[in-house]
Formats: sequence, structure tokens, C-alpha cells
Amino acid sequence: MSASNSDVPVSNFLRTIIENDLSANKFQNKRWAGRPGPLSVQQDAPRDSARIRTRFPPEPNGYLHIGHAKSICLNFGLARDYGGECHLRFDDTNPEKEEQAYVDSIIDTVKWLGFDWNYDGTEHLYFASDYFQFFYEFALALIESGDAYVDEQSPEQIRENRGTLTAPGVDSPWRNRPVEETLTLFREMRAGKHPNGSLCLRAKVDMKSPNINMRDPVIYRIRHEAHHRTGMDWPIYPMYTFAHPLEDALEMITHSICTLEFEDQRPFYDWVIDKLIALGHLPEQRPHQYEFARLNLNHVVTSKRRLKRLVDDHFVEGWDDPRMPTIMGLRRRGYTPEAIRLFCERIGVSKADSRIDYNILEQALRDDLDPKVDRAVAVLDPIRLIITNYPEGQSELCQAPKHPHNPEQGLREFPFSRELWIEREDFMENPPKKYFRLFPDNLVRLKYAYIVKCTGFKQDEDGNVIEVYAEYLPDTKSGTPGAASVKVKGTITWVSVPHADEVEVKLYDRLFTVENPDAGGQDFLEFINPDSVKTVTGFIEPGTTITPGARWQFERLGYFYVDGEAQDKTVINRSTTLRDNWV
Ligand code: ATP
Ligand code: MG
Repeated sequence: MSASNSDVPVSNFLRTIIENDLSANKFQNKRWAGRPGPLSVQQDAPRDSARIRTRFPPEPNGYLHIGHAKSICLNFGLARDYGGECHLRFDDTNPEKEEQAYVDSIIDTVKWLGFDWNYDGTEHLYFASDYFQFFYEFALALIESGDAYVDEQSPEQIRENRGTLTAPGVDSPWRNRPVEETLTLFREMRAGKHPNGSLCLRAKVDMKSPNINMRDPVIYRIRHEAHHRTGMDWPIYPMYTFAHPLEDALEMITHSICTLEFEDQRPFYDWVIDKLIALGHLPEQRPHQYEFARLNLNHVVTSKRRLKRLVDDHFVEGWDDPRMPTIMGLRRRGYTPEAIRLFCERIGVSKADSRIDYNILEQALRDDLDPKVDRAVAVLDPIRLIITNYPEGQSELCQAPKHPHNPEQGLREFPFSRELWIEREDFMENPPKKYFRLFPDNLVRLKYAYIVKCTGFKQDEDGNVIEVYAEYLPDTKSGTPGAASVKVKGTITWVSVPHADEVEVKLYDRLFTVENPDAGGQDFLEFINPDSVKTVTGFIEPGTTITPGARWQFERLGYFYVDGEAQDKTVINRSTTLRDNWV
């Protein structure tokens, strides 16, 4: 793709490519045996009924984050929209850091996001480690054709001799080793006869290429290490740049979509596939790699390495801490799959790197939840309001719609009484202009109840207001004919002290104080926000069912979610405020 594609409207450039491919009938001779395999498996298979094939290829070395969601929505979304199929493929060619627990979590997360790799009864769930024998045979074929050699230089020597952007590389003294010798050594490597780092297999491409990735890249290394699926079967492991194009080719992928940093790898991607097509190991109908800009989200970090530091150094409580940009963290925070998909749709796909404001993510959640969730009242920074002319021990019910725009969701009822909790910020002794809430002698409406007039307040020894006093106007109850008889400028929310339920609520703020914690060459941890979570005790409207997974909009305060993962007690997380409060 040329750079001019950067100004093609969002989400369009890949669609344009696919639409052009489909209208040119580019895949009409493509076959698919119903399972991955080389030419020998695919050549007599029926025509592929999937119009395109894409894949999401995570490495099972960590948990998925919001950046992965972009790739998931893109790959599964394109397959869905164009009559194709998307594979979930674990790129598990690196034994050191990979684990079954990550595999399980990734499967669970992709499903939770609403995607599925079962098409007409075929599960397209694949593991690169299942292709180890194919990779090995392909490497043997490249050796036999004179396109690969075993190098005895140390990893440091290889790096030194690779050259730089301005200086060409230097040929390895082993570059022209006879084919038979390389074959013998490579078979010995496979048999486990050589220690880690002593030998490697390199593709014989071009040490003088202006693209450093083409200077005889290493394609196999020795690693005596247990793999989470193949155990000690393989003492050698293919490098990512060799394995990835082959995984795509074996799975008959049509559009291999990856992030921009792989653009310089594309020539080698093509080299590997073209060689193996020419050698009769892969079908002519080959995958093509396309690159898009990765998601960079402001006020968080998304690289697995950085997220791991946050966990290991206890800046957060775990990978699923509700402040983390991991999918499991967002899920605990109260994000819905619909909101994450909406976000991915809104940010689109382009060729140009950019940063996305965190508020775009929050707005997607608000837009998803607003029409769906019930409302409730909560007071999270409580102060007592006493209605001095309301009889002690008396109470009466007030009514409110569960949803202001969907009357069919019905009504909720909660009691009014002499003592109420109101928000501390809803009273001021000396208010500034345009403050329409409670202050001495002012009238306000208690939402869904009466108009009250502030008559006084009490302070503690330090001057903090601890109680506010008011008198109610008996004829002004909401929903009665007298409700409009007195005009007031302010409305405040409240809950009844003897009736409200006490709850623990966590209020979150941005995890980092700056938009890009990775900019400026400083350690990203220096920008961590020390106040990214605040735990408060609040009171909520009685009758609200607080079960794990429940969510509401608390009027004025935002969207809230009952954390199902919190240990031993009920914790309510604020998923997001009602509008962007970050200034
Ligand atoms: P990280 O950089 O966080 O370690 P990764 O790229 O190493 O991520 P993989 O498991 O290899 O993680 O990623 C699986 C897929 O997700 C890849 O195709 C990759 O391009 C894509 N992906 C990862 N991060 C992002 C991102 N921020 N935006 C879009 N796609 C991403
Ligand atoms: Mg990776």
C-alpha cells in the first residue's frame, strides 16, 4: 500500500482491497481441505466456500488488551461482512513465555467479545505448534534448494555482521557451506545434538539488501526448553518471521492483517511463501500481508511488557484490575462487549499512526448503556439533611421512572423520610453566583419528592458542615398538582437515611497523568497517577438489586457495575462518569 492511503476514510482501505479482490474473482481457484495443510493436502480439495479467510494470531504470552480488541473486531468483522471465515490461531512458537493459562484466557476473551470461529460446524481454532513438522520439512526443502544454511557464528557475531541502515552486511563464512553439510547439521539440531545458541539456520537472501530484514534472517534457533503443548519434542523452534507466513499459507488465509511495524517484514513474508510455492510445497493461492495502524490509547499503556510491570511492581492489583486496559480489566470495570465493539468501529482502521483519546472509549460505553440500563439514586459523598418539619418516624413513597426515555421499563419506588443523605457538594454556606443548590434560605427540589427551603446547618469544631436543616413545602410533591406551584432553579438527589443501603464504591481516574506515558524518553512509571482509585462508602436507593454483574446509571454520577470478581464483599465500580471530567 502506498502512503497516500493514509487519507482514505477510516475503516475503508482494507474493505476496498477486499472488495477489489472479490470483484476480480481473485480467489476463484482457491481450495480448502477443511483443515490446514501444504499443497499436498489442499490441491485436490473442493473450492473454498469462504469468500475470504482472515485470522487473529495472538501469542499466548499474556492477556488481551484493548489494542487486541481492535485487531479482533477487524479480522472477525471483515470475515463476517464479506462472507468469509476468521481463524483464531495461537502463534505459539516461542516456548519460554507461553502458557496454557493464557490460551484459555484468550479463548474466553474473544468469545466474550462476541466472536466465534465455528463456521458450519468447523472450529477454526489452530495452534502454530501443530505445524512444527511442516515448518521443519519446509526448512529442509529450502536447504535442499540452496536457500538456507546452518551458521556457526555466535548470535553477537551475526548481529555485528548484519550491517546497519547505511552499511551493508558481511557474508557469514558458512554461507556457502555445501547443502549436504547443512542438511546433516540441521538434522542434528533437530535431534537435540547441539546446545542452545551454538548453531542456527538462516535463509540465504541478500546480505547487501537495503532492508535489514532481508539480510539472511535466522529462521530456526536451538532452544532446549519445554513447550506448553509439545513438551520436549522439539529442541529447535522456528523464528516468528519464518513461521508466520507459513501459518497463513497452511491455513489458506487470503488477507493477513497485521500492524504497521511489520511492513518491513513483508518482503521476507513474500520471499518465504514464493520460494515454497516454487518448490511445490504451497499452493499458488497465497496469502497477502496488509498493515494497519495499531491502537494507541491516551492515558494508558498497552504493551504486554509494560502491563506486566504494572502488575509485578504492584501498581495495580492484577491483570484484571479495573484500571487496566486489558479486556478482563475493562470487563470488571463494567464495560460491555457491545461498547468495546462500538469503540473499535468508531476509531476505524487506517495506515497512519495516531493516538485515540480515552474519552472515545468511555463515550462508547455511555452510548451503549444509556438506552439500556435502569436508573437509581446514590449518594457517594454523604452529608445529612434533616427536614425539621417532617414528623419523626414517618415515611412515604416517591416514584421515579426506571428509565427516563423508556416508560415501558416501569417505575421504581423508594421512601422519603425526615433524615436524608445528600451529596456534600450540594450544600454551600457561601455559594458563588449561579450555584442553585442548597444554601441558607434557598429553595431546591429534592428530585422525585418535595421542594425544601434551607433553614440552617451545623458545623463541627473544625468548621466542617456536618448537618444541613431544611423545611419542606407539603403541597409540592413531584407528580401532584401542586408540584409546579413554586419555581426553583435547582434539583438535588437524595436517599432516605433509615432506608438506604450502604455500599462500597470504587471511583476510578486515569491510570497515567499524561496522554502518552511512553513519550519523552522517561520511564513510563514516573507518570502513574497516584490517585487512580478512590474507595468510598455511599448509600443507594433501597430496593436496588445488588447482584454481581448488575449495572445502573446512578443519576448525576455515572454508570456503575457490581464487580463479580471482588473478594468476600460487594464492590460497586464506577465504569465511567456521565461526561468527560478530565481536564
Ligand atoms: P504487545 O505489543 O502488547 O505485546 P503483541 O503484538 O506482541 O502485543 P500478539 O499476541 O502478537 O501481541 O498480538 C496479536 C495480534 O494483535 C497481532 O496481530 C497484533 O498485530 C495485534 N495487536 C496487538 N496490539 C495491537 C494494538 N495496539 N492495536 C492493534 N492491534 C494490535
Ligand atoms: Mg507479538
